[in-house]
Amino acid sequence: MKQTVDLQALLKKAKLLQTYAYAPYSLFRVSAIVTLKNGNHITGVNVENAAYSAGICAERNALAQVFAQGYQKNDVSYLFLITDSKIIGSPCGVCRQFMIETMPSEAIIYISNKNDNNDIKSIISIVVKDLLPMAFKPNALKGN
Ligand SMILES: [Zn+2]
Repeated sequence: MKQTVDLQALLKKAKLLQTYAYAPYSLFRVSAIVTLKNGNHITGVNVENAAYSAGICAERNALAQVFAQGYQKNDVSYLFLITDSKIIGSPCGVCRQFMIETMPSEAIIYISNKNDNNDIKSIISIVVKDLLPMAFKPNALKGN
């Protein structure tokens, strides 16, 4: 079943969520909305830390919540991401690796920049499997 994607509604919600980000060091606020196949939204924001590497990106924050709420990879339909960037931001390498294992390979990632004009035509999309060619996958751990 193909879901209708209301990018305007997601953009509005993602912008509100950005205000919840904890980004006192970078001042770079990011939010992510995972839409499940049942239509539920699971959200995340970036949460920084004075020990920088202890922080977490919005995408991984949201995707971890998918599992914490009892859902699985195949319950995920798509993810919407917005950053404070004037150009289109892109998930970091760690998030790409995380997405490969926690989202269906054909799931779409929608990415918006700061988008002051609320222009949904500026939102790009990419399929999870194209985010990280030659990703490290679970089967690489087998066969020892
Ligand atoms: Zn990241």
